[in-house]
Amino acid sequence: MLTCRIHAKDDLRIETDSEPAVAPGQVLIRLGAGGICGSDLHYYYEGRNGSFVIREPLVPGHEASGVVAKVGAGVTRVKPGDKIAVSPSQACGRCDYCREGREHLCRNMRFLGSASVYPHVQGMFAEYFVLGECQCYPVSGDVTLGELAFAEPLAVGLHAVNRAGDLMGKHVLVTGAGTIGCLTMMAARLKGASAVTASDVLDRPLETARAVGAARTVRGDRERGALASPQFDVAFEASGSLPALNACIAAVKRGGTIVQVGTLPHEPLPFVVNEIMAKELDFKGAFRWGIEFDWAVEYIASRRVDVGPLLSRQFPLERAVEAFALARDKTRSTKVQLVAA
Ligand SMILES: [Zn+2]
Ligand SMILES: [Zn+2]
Repeated sequence: MLTCRIHAKDDLRIETDSEPAVAPGQVLIRLGAGGICGSDLHYYYEGRNGSFVIREPLVPGHEASGVVAKVGAGVTRVKPGDKIAVSPSQACGRCDYCREGREHLCRNMRFLGSASVYPHVQGMFAEYFVLGECQCYPVSGDVTLGELAFAEPLAVGLHAVNRAGDLMGKHVLVTGAGTIGCLTMMAARLKGASAVTASDVLDRPLETARAVGAARTVRGDRERGALASPQFDVAFEASGSLPALNACIAAVKRGGTIVQVGTLPHEPLPFVVNEIMAKELDFKGAFRWGIEFDWAVEYIASRRVDVGPLLSRQFPLERAVEAFALARDKTRSTKVQLVAA
């Protein structure tokens, strides 16, 4: 079977591995579709994702769907042939954070396709992989494996809007109109936002934002004045850029909320804390998701949320290098997925 592995910065290889064995309670999954995410791009092109540095070969990929190939003894949640969304989250279930229902903050988190711990937790850009049955979410109906692979990023968007609190009737700004930004816009509309404005520094993402319901779009780099005055109740910073964060701070009204969803560069950043103080802003982080993954699977399976406009193209695993290059080019793509040949 084929496995896509990042050995170091700019060194991604397609390797041949033997099929993994299935222990009791485990499920062998054949990859359906795996979305290439910003963190996968960081690992490939920079050798690190924020403070997580690649120290051994890493199989990337944490946004996946698949088909159950084989089940180990005692597995009851799925059976061979089931179409599933796959949760990349392996929380310990025992620490204080897990026990208070914030398992995404788990002290012993093992998140697939991540170098946050060493040895790294290997991801899902492989023809076959093995996971515990609780990470498998069987789905029926005609939803495609490509759509189902959006469960993880949609969960990120749903979690971000949950962090923001009440959105009913609120005016919302989302900076960064990539996959996470667009899914955050869709989640904000689900939660009652009266109008969503999207900003980006490229035209293509803004077209996508309009396709998923943004009422107004702003070229953050050209239309400087557009976001200079306070006009939004809530802003979501989904681009991971400091100018965008500063735009959020300027554009949110006194007493408003900013949720940081994107990962900013690793270097120390000059940061305007006084405006947060004087405008009495709530500045919050949103990291991964908890129960929102379950909701995301339901929303996608029922097509309550249509992720169709976000899927740009699929490539077979063996063309991963080409797929990563397209995924990196935001003038040509939103979400690019890898599929088993
Ligand atoms: Zn992701
Ligand atoms: Zn835990």
